[in-house]
Amino acid sequence: MSAGVVVAGERLGHIPPVETNPLLDEARDRLRRTFGHADFRGLQGEVIGEILAGRNAMAVLPTGGGKSLCYQIPALIRPGLGLVVSPLIALMADQVAALTQSGVAAARLDSAIEPSERRETWARIEAGELDILYLSPEGLMQPAMLQRLSQLDLALVAIDEAHCVSQWGHDFRPEYRMLGQLASLFPRTPRLAVTATADARTREDIRAELRLTDAREFVDSFARPELILAAERKVGKSDKRVIELVTQRPGRAGVVYTGSRDGADALAASLRDAGAHALAYHAGLDAGVRKTRLMEFLAADDAVMVATIAFGMGIDKADVRFVIHADPPASIEAYWQEIGRAGRDGAPAEGITLYGPADLNWALRRIGGREVADEVRQVQTRKARQLHAMLEGMGCRAAAVRRYFGETDVEPCGQCDLCLAPPVAVDVSEAARKALAAVHRLGGRYGRGRVVDHLLGKTKEPSEFEAGLSTFGVGKEFSPAGWRDLIDQLLFEGLVREDPNDGRPLLGLGDAEAVRAVYRGERGVQLRRAPEAHDPTTRSGRPRRRRGGEPLGVPETDMSLFDVLRAWRREEAARQGVPPYVIFHDRTLAEIARVRPATPAALTSVGGVGQAKLDRYGAAVLALVAA
Ligand code: ADP
Ligand code: ZN
Repeated sequence: MSAGVVVAGERLGHIPPVETNPLLDEARDRLRRTFGHADFRGLQGEVIGEILAGRNAMAVLPTGGGKSLCYQIPALIRPGLGLVVSPLIALMADQVAALTQSGVAAARLDSAIEPSERRETWARIEAGELDILYLSPEGLMQPAMLQRLSQLDLALVAIDEAHCVSQWGHDFRPEYRMLGQLASLFPRTPRLAVTATADARTREDIRAELRLTDAREFVDSFARPELILAAERKVGKSDKRVIELVTQRPGRAGVVYTGSRDGADALAASLRDAGAHALAYHAGLDAGVRKTRLMEFLAADDAVMVATIAFGMGIDKADVRFVIHADPPASIEAYWQEIGRAGRDGAPAEGITLYGPADLNWALRRIGGREVADEVRQVQTRKARQLHAMLEGMGCRAAAVRRYFGETDVEPCGQCDLCLAPPVAVDVSEAARKALAAVHRLGGRYGRGRVVDHLLGKTKEPSEFEAGLSTFGVGKEFSPAGWRDLIDQLLFEGLVREDPNDGRPLLGLGDAEAVRAVYRGERGVQLRRAPEAHDPTTRSGRPRRRRGGEPLGVPETDMSLFDVLRAWRREEAARQGVPPYVIFHDRTLAEIARVRPATPAALTSVGGVGQAKLDRYGAAVLALVAA
């Protein structure tokens, strides 16, 4: 990494260590009193120290890593108004609601705000009563707005989701490019860019476009120990498997990502039929419907949002317990961001991805058909391949992702599917030669099912030509599922190719050089097969994974109190018209259920209970615990 980059675990000589930096005493006090957290997490302390010293900074912290406190706390401590630029109204609304709950004077000015509220907010700003103001990039850059802000003392300008400035990222927003002007408009105000996208190229873009060349860069570890990862190759249509996965997780909030709008609608309907509280969300719905569904999702603690990637950035629901990809994402960055929407409260959550060779093929074809510069196409192609290599990999998934983001010395997570059941590689080169020969002899005229039947000698009424081929019936050693797995593997390795043929794909030989190498025995083909017994009760034949206990770590004996607290929170949230988790996170309620605090002092020692929340809810919670 270049000079000026602070990576988790290492320190630059001229920054006092967080423990002894006097600037941070007040920040730590704020963290405890206002936000109820015992200490800084990751690089938060370092980033806050930098802004408090009046310098620009750039923070790359994983989703859920606590990026918002990096600007909220300095905005509270430094004199003047803290500006926060954010790309989405939903995100701003959520943060303002959460800050207000914690007793912080925060507001937003965006296109959705009524003129009367606008005037009231400006009155608070001009009276010096407001600490934090959220703005959209286009709202901030309006000349009248800049003019008005230039009359004020500004504590800082924070640019949230700063990767939106980069065309290499997946959330490019042209209006973010205007934010570079802030460097000359507010030269004495420290600026902070925050993002969860670690890709080095995106980081460079952020620096250049936002004119943050002097800013120290803080890159935190991408570890998300609360996320339990798994991936499965699709077996047939993924909807049935998704319904199974969701119904195995009743009463939990989740997100299911699908590749198409129709897919989202259909899957949400099937999930509702299966008894889940499922909602569909995609760009084909009108804004009003999207908004009501988003509100319903945020307000509920058991809703499952079935969505395309239109449902994305800025969805800050803290208690999402699982993210399921019914179709795989576009890159490892997108994977980590989407999966990362689970477990933001720090409590255990799951990320499960369904994928298959057809998805990779489809992604590559789509990239190939895009009207973009060659260089962009190459980057996107590489990213799609890297994602599938990770999904298909043999080693720890979390470790693979972190290495991709540039971390070194990464330990296996010990809890992903591959750590729990390390796959063993089985050499299937001989069978691969049979399959390749069959595909070759059949001349690219048939799909996978027919090729498998041919290998097994089970083709119904084969032509004389087909029955006479040397490959007919040579593959009786595997079951049909075994052959399909093997052909998937050949597709992943580019040894065979699928011609889409209007939805009835035909198999043909892939890269000729590679195929020859397999024929000559210079290249082996291995299949990943977990060393587990075949389970006849599952469709895939793989054993069901069983995880013991309640994922939030609430012992059985405390579950009824936990449920009582959740019910109270639901009512309180409905009364105030805010999402439940801005009152208390699941994790906070779980800890309360476990430690059963009897006094206000004991209650504040629970993570997530600050002074404002103690004043507001302390009596009610203590009464429930005592009852
Ligand atoms: P993101 O980095 O994704 O924007 P947030 O700022 O929304 O993350 O924070 C994610 C969650 O972590 C929030 O629920 C927040 O209350 C919690 N959090 C942030 N900082 C700390 C901390 N120092 N200790 C404990 N929890 C924290
Ligand atoms: Zn692992």
